[in-house]
Amino acid sequence: MRRIRRAITALALALALLPAAAGCGKEGSPPVKGPQAEELPTYKVDTGFRLPESPTWRRAERRGHLTVGVKEDQPYLGEKDPATGRYSGFDIEIAKMMAASLGFQPSTIRFRTIASANRETALQNGQIDYYVGTYTINPLRKRQVGFAGPYYMAGQSLLVRADEDDIHGPQDLAGKTVCSVAGSTPLQRIQSDYPKARAVAYDTYSVCVDNLLSYQVDAVTTDNVILLGYAAKVPDELKVVGKPFSREPYGIGVPRHDNALRFALDDALLAHERNGDWKRAYNATLGLSGVPAPKPPPIDRYQTR
Ligand code: GLU
Repeated sequence: MRRIRRAITALALALALLPAAAGCGKEGSPPVKGPQAEELPTYKVDTGFRLPESPTWRRAERRGHLTVGVKEDQPYLGEKDPATGRYSGFDIEIAKMMAASLGFQPSTIRFRTIASANRETALQNGQIDYYVGTYTINPLRKRQVGFAGPYYMAGQSLLVRADEDDIHGPQDLAGKTVCSVAGSTPLQRIQSDYPKARAVAYDTYSVCVDNLLSYQVDAVTTDNVILLGYAAKVPDELKVVGKPFSREPYGIGVPRHDNALRFALDDALLAHERNGDWKRAYNATLGLSGVPAPKPPPIDRYQTR
């Protein structure tokens, strides 16, 4: 019985997690495919913009394109269509807004998938100009990179199989196997605050979700907004349980000493929140999972020495 169930689950997942292979969601559930290009907002490119004080901006301007680090397997946030190579999601929209404010046309943005564990190095060694991918701002990371924002407030949560009865929150994880991602804040929190849980780590959350559906692990932990995206793809198989148990303010990662770029992105975020772009972007992406647009958190224009 279990073998059959596993086979069905694996098939459901293969269909649901592959945006290109899937059709529409069942009635009343969010569409499985990401938004179509024509449904997405466009952002006015500030063609006269100049930021010579920023070494990152100068280099990008000289080479004629921006390289932006993102995720590719997080539904509604940062997702790559394997058929077209096109990236979509709320983080992708934030990245496009920022590019427009920095004077770059959408056709000059090159997205590059970078896993959670590699974000700091990618920014430090100049592989990317900035990073937009569910990246929590915290003091430890601020010593390695800079953060514009925050532009969204998430919180850590738990994803389990729909038929799971024992796990309702992190207090129920003792003796359970919990999957998360290397280099992420949720993994660190489970290890430090819930040492009785058996934590396992992979490079991406989609691998954790595969492992959950095939009964290799009992739960997946990361930010609620990421988990809701996976649950929305296979609502009969997965559910998010309990209340969020942390605060994860999402920032735009920039190279550590490029304060000119960081402040320019803070200004840009504020401008796009005020002119309605932020809300339009939310409604066309994350809003599809059914949660109405919240008020964006206040921007923290911090000073460094
Ligand atoms: N926001 C958390 C972090 O930055 C989890 C999501 C992620 O790994 O991107 O570590």
